[in-house]
Amino acid sequence: ERMLDIRQNNCNPMTMKVTYYKKPVHIHQGYMQWLWDTDGRRYLDLFAGVATVSVGHCHPKVTAAAEKQLRRLWHTTSIYMYPTVHEYTDKLAALLPDPLKVVYLVNSGSEANDLAMLMARVHTGNFDIITLRGSYHGGSPLATGLTSNSAYKFPVASGFGCHNTMCPDVFRGPWGGRHCRDSPVQTVRNCSCSQDHCQANEMYIDQLKEMFATTVPNRIAAFFGEPIQGVGGAVQYPKNFLKETYKLVRERGGLCIADEVQTGFGRTGSHFWGFQGHGVLPDMVTMAKGIANGFPMAAVVTTQEIARSFAKGVHFNTFGGNPVACAIASSVLDVCIIYNGSQHISANIGTYLLHELAKLREKYEIVGDVRGKGLMIGVEMVKNKADADFFLAVFNRALQNYMERRLKP
Ligand code: PMP
Repeated sequence: ERMLDIRQNNCNPMTMKVTYYKKPVHIHQGYMQWLWDTDGRRYLDLFAGVATVSVGHCHPKVTAAAEKQLRRLWHTTSIYMYPTVHEYTDKLAALLPDPLKVVYLVNSGSEANDLAMLMARVHTGNFDIITLRGSYHGGSPLATGLTSNSAYKFPVASGFGCHNTMCPDVFRGPWGGRHCRDSPVQTVRNCSCSQDHCQANEMYIDQLKEMFATTVPNRIAAFFGEPIQGVGGAVQYPKNFLKETYKLVRERGGLCIADEVQTGFGRTGSHFWGFQGHGVLPDMVTMAKGIANGFPMAAVVTTQEIARSFAKGVHFNTFGGNPVACAIASSVLDVCIIYNGSQHISANIGTYLLHELAKLREKYEIVGDVRGKGLMIGVEMVKNKADADFFLAVFNRALQNYMERRLKP
């Protein structure tokens, strides 16, 4: 009703944007799923610091592990060895299938993707990297080259040596990527059905093959793909799309890299790693966000063979593998393991949310799509195309209502 009210009264989303920015929310405390602002309002956190707080704000077990490590040792660099890092890397590697057993620790998702990109080029001796339309792989100079979303690109500084002419890193995937009710690409909706017989799946696979045959260089270094696109809008691929892409990439000598920065650590609901839901085995997996529940930490996990090629040069990272980060990440894994993998919780809550949100889609014309899997769920506002302004208006009005209501005595 609120949504229709906003539309009928012709609220100006831009004015609402200003209202929102004039009154930002100051969060000063968190506990598990709750956040509190400086005025004492409590919020149920569905955002988790951009899909990062994987086991809850200030989880007691994780906080205790951090405190213990803070009293013992803060920092040495990876030049010296210490037990916390080995305990952690062993624990992490055990959760990945063979031959993904060599762990490199860094500090952010962008850094992990930069490192994976470098390793792929060193290992293969090739330069070109391809990614999918709608992808987001980070904000560092190299990672913005991988990211396809133009909103995150800077015309004069989009990746050192990674311009599209030198490096066709932004591969325009053949699939429309949207599942809107009013989308001009109606058949895309069928793609998310994941049925073997779905004609749209076959159509996209054919287009993919055609695209590889006509536009992708013969030799490539790597393909980066998120198992479900996060920033792109909770977008799932047609069935077998990633499997087929991996095959085509490997035919060109490229490595397949799963960007699990958002999808890792059980977020997709079906498996602990998103790639497992596609029946593929990557050559490298990059991860961050949920890895340390909000503490800066990230990793690249790869094979012995790739690590051996990379060991021919020197790679050093001052903060990568920081003892406090490792202690935190290790206790995050303990919490996930207690629950037999956090994916079951994501699946249960995600299924409930999808079911309830789908009712909005039936009720309101403006809700074009409700989609996703596990705790990667998107609600898309659509007029005749995806309507970001309307979404912003709803977002701001919801926040405004909440704040006004709670401020009344
Ligand atoms: N890859 C994906 C899939 C992401 O969603 C993000 C962050 N949103 C990144 C990489 C970059 O991670 P970071 O912000 O930690 O550099």
